[in-house]
Parts: sequence; structure tokens; C-alpha cells
Amino acid sequence: MKYKFNHKSLSFEKAKTTPFHLFKMIFSYIATGVAFAVVVLVIWTVFFESPKEKRLKRELLFYNQTIISIEKRMDLLSKVLQDMEEKDDNLYRAILEAEPVGRSLSIQDFEAQYADLLSKNQSDVLNQIQLKTSILTQRTQTQLNSYQELWKLAQEKEKIQASIPAISPVKNPVLVSGFGMRYHPIYKILRRHTGVDLIGKKGTPIYATADGTVSIEQEGTGYGVAVLINHGRGYQTLYAHLSKTNVKPGQRVRRGDIIGYMGSTGLSVGVHLHYEVIKNGEKVNPIHYFFGDLTPEEYNEILKQASEINQSLS
Ligand SMILES: [Zn+2]
Repeated sequence: MKYKFNHKSLSFEKAKTTPFHLFKMIFSYIATGVAFAVVVLVIWTVFFESPKEKRLKRELLFYNQTIISIEKRMDLLSKVLQDMEEKDDNLYRAILEAEPVGRSLSIQDFEAQYADLLSKNQSDVLNQIQLKTSILTQRTQTQLNSYQELWKLAQEKEKIQASIPAISPVKNPVLVSGFGMRYHPIYKILRRHTGVDLIGKKGTPIYATADGTVSIEQEGTGYGVAVLINHGRGYQTLYAHLSKTNVKPGQRVRRGDIIGYMGSTGLSVGVHLHYEVIKNGEKVNPIHYFFGDLTPEEYNEILKQASEINQSLS
């Protein structure tokens, strides 16, 4: 209840409450309340964090640390890959005589290539990571393709190596007559000796000097009991005057397999092996194909023996 002082009557009178006054009063209460609430809220948000904010801040910190760690790991991966690329170019490809791999793409090329991948709405850090991932993926794929190609080349090389005569057809070879002009033991004339004569005891094992297929296993010619092996890639080897053979035509043999035994069949004057190497149809000097299992000293000794113009045994 409110009272008002009346100057005319000099007394207090009850003041009438109009709806306007009532409205003003209520509004002022509400306004004061709201103003107070705003002040409290501002103070709260400035000086205190909500649990949600705290959680988000923690998450943000975690994501930032994760991104830094991912970037570091990617840089490390890139270095490892670079090492592999260098080994590939300078070692593997050199050994296998392969063409270098095209790795011409630079960072700028990649940036241009992946420009559409890089979103403008994303942070630079994320864009960088996306770019680096794409580059690493592409380089890894190139390297994988290269290794697959090298693997095929290595297998091919191994096959070629296996088909070239590379060892002596007998263990501890003793060469009595080399390749070239020699006196024939039976005809007693100087004529071209198309192989080398290696002596030994009757029955000494004779080895295939490379992988191949037995094409002829014959008897009854000047070569006596003989084996001809087809190695492919233009190479053939002939083993003559054997006491007996161990193989049949069409049989696959590996380098080092025993194909027969030393003898003196055919036009021969003593127990020995007449060994020939044929390259693209032409008979070549077999001592150049002994490198596989001789020491340099043994090889020099064989070379010396092979150069003497003496009488051959066949
Ligand atoms: Zn001979």
C-alpha cells in the first residue's frame, strides 16, 4: 500500500495504483533481473570455462599433437622411400642393366595434379598432409611396379646365366690339347681341333656345364659315344669319346648333373674327354667357358696348356 502527501488537505491519502504504474513496476523488476543475469553470464564466460569448452580444448590439443606426429612419420617414410628409390636406380637397375624408372614428378607437379583434392575450407596443415599422402602413395606404387619389373628381369637373368656353359665338364681338369691347329693323332696331319681334350681315368664322371636338353646321344661316329646338349640362346656343348652315357635324348639336365663317364670310344688314342662349346652354330674355344669353378691360377695354367701346339687325342 502506498500513501501520497496532499498539500491542500495537508494529510496523507491512499494512492491509487493505475494499470500503468503496475506495468512500470513489473517491467522494472524484470529489467533489473535480466540486467543482473547478463552481468553474471558475462563474468562467468570471461572468467570460467564450461565443461564442454574444456573437453573441446582438450580434443583440439590432442588433434594438433596427432597431426604433428603424423607429419613427422610421413617425413620419415618419405626418407625411407627415397633410400629405396636410390638403391633401385643406382644398384638394382645397374646390376640388371635395366632402364631407370621415370620419377620426374616434383612437389610442384604433385601440387598441380592434386589441386582439386586440396579444399579451400580446410586448414593448410590438413592440405599439406593430404598432399604428402598422395605423393607417398604414388611414389610407393611406382616403387612397387619397379620391384615387380626387376624381379622378372632377375629371373630372366638367372635363366640366361644357367644356360651359358660356365664350369669345367670334369673335376680338376687336366688339359692336354687346346683349341685350334693341332696334329691329329690318327691322320697325323695339322688340322683344326674344334674342342679341348681333358685327360683322366676311365669312368671319370662328366658334368653338364649348363642347364639344357640332351639333343643327341650317339654312338658310331668319330666322336664315339657322345652327348650333345642344347642350352638355348644359341649355346650347345658336346662331350665325346665317353665310355657310356647317363642320359637320353629329350632329357632335361641341370648344370653339374652327371651325363656320362670318360672313355676312349670313336677316333681316340687314349682315355680323355673331347669337349666342345658351340655358340650360334660356330665352334668356339671352350676354355673361355671354364670360369665358373676354376681359381685364377688354375685358369692361367689351363690357358698355358691350351696354347701349346701339340698333338690332340682326338
Ligand atoms: Zn679332341
